[in-house]
Amino acid sequence: MLDLAPEDEFQIKRLTNSIRTMQEFDLPPVLDDLPFIQSTIRGIKMARYLKFLYLLYQWRNDTNRTFAKKLNNAFLRESFELLYDDQEVNMVVMTMPLASFDKKSAGYPIGGSMQFAKYLEESYLQLGGKIHYNTPVKKIITENNTAKGLLVRNNVSHYSDAIISAADWNWTIFDALDGKYTDKKILELKELKKLKVFYSVLQFSFGINKDLSDQPHFSRFPLKTPVHCPDGTKHERLEVHVYNYDPTFAPKGKTSVVVSFYTEHADFWIDLRKNNRPKYREAKKEMLETITNLLDERLGGIKDQIEEVDFATPATYLRYTNNWKGSTQGWLPSENLIALSPIKFTLPNLANFYMASHWNQPGGGLPIAISAGRDLTKKICKEQKKKFTTKKTSL
Ligand SMILES: Cc1cc2nc3c(=O)[nH]c(=O)nc-3n(C[C@H](O)[C@H](O)[C@H](O)COP(=O)(O)OP(=O)(O)OC[C@H]3O[C@@H](n4cnc5c(N)ncnc54)[C@H](O)[C@@H]3O)c2cc1C
Repeated sequence: MLDLAPEDEFQIKRLTNSIRTMQEFDLPPVLDDLPFIQSTIRGIKMARYLKFLYLLYQWRNDTNRTFAKKLNNAFLRESFELLYDDQEVNMVVMTMPLASFDKKSAGYPIGGSMQFAKYLEESYLQLGGKIHYNTPVKKIITENNTAKGLLVRNNVSHYSDAIISAADWNWTIFDALDGKYTDKKILELKELKKLKVFYSVLQFSFGINKDLSDQPHFSRFPLKTPVHCPDGTKHERLEVHVYNYDPTFAPKGKTSVVVSFYTEHADFWIDLRKNNRPKYREAKKEMLETITNLLDERLGGIKDQIEEVDFATPATYLRYTNNWKGSTQGWLPSENLIALSPIKFTLPNLANFYMASHWNQPGGGLPIAISAGRDLTKKICKEQKKKFTTKKTSL
């Protein structure tokens, strides 16, 4: 950035110095149980997190757009303005991941999300867990306000000492438990009065018989004419992700390419698929044609080399993951990034029941899903007077 815009040295250094400061902290801090003296020492050391809170305070009103306004260089200013396409996002959402990437504590796993899920599966099996695939849960069985088991397909019941739902928040509370265990806060969340649901996505994936190793792996560029999506969203830019850095995605000489758009109108796709399948297919076909033509222009004639195509809409994400409104990450973060989450691990008046997923903390995503699972395990260990320990698997 300094090479591109030396005139903006002050703001650039303000930003990069903040990222460096963030790297001094474990986020979120891991607070496992310790003997009294060690935990007191840790408590004293935690005081240094005040520096981190002060940093958040300093950046509390800075978004990509307000930061852009402080820059003199036209290119850098536009880059920050359009960092999240049309969205205005607090700068901390950008700086925290950058701090983690540079520390190598976040990144992209070769093999993508499938490989990532396989590691979790293997690790769970190694620890003695059992997984029943292709077994959708229909209901959570309760008796006398106590969760007792699961009713799965073919009306088979499984009983257990405790039930943990790692599935969708809305489905768990209002379908699996028929909305019987709620309170004012939960009902306000359901009516979207407190938080918004994170955007869903339209994802066009192409398998192209062409070596695209000369292309940048990611670009977002302005379109000559905007794309008008049937769900009402107007897209002025196209985001192209060329997976030329992951050899597991395509055979040598071929490349996987993904074009994606966020949408706040997931219900359009979900309802259309449910109520008018031919129209849904027609809308998909039209969008796919538009995107294929734009990609063809961008990548210098690839239309005839496309061997595989997959177009996922919010209805697809709902169908595969059951996430409410095809949400990609649970709840959208609220404006107050350090506010306590209104989502609890338990539900009112229901014993032996817990929930842990990306819905537990606005912002969601994989880090939240994983930390929610860990924090819930600690809570259950405490309730059962068991020591919480972790074990490194061989993966
Ligand atoms: C295109 C895309 C890109 C993303 N990129 C990133 C990223 O770069 N970084 C990041 O941090 N996050 C990213 N995310 C978000 C991330 O994938 C999610 O936040 C994360 O997977 C949530 O994990 P989870 O375990 O809470 O829920 P999920 O991964 O949704 O898992 C829920 C599971 O429950 C199962 N299930 C649901 N209902 C039932 C039922 N009735 N019976 C049985 N099983 C059921 C589902 O099949 C699913 O396997 C992305 C999401 C998408 C869609």
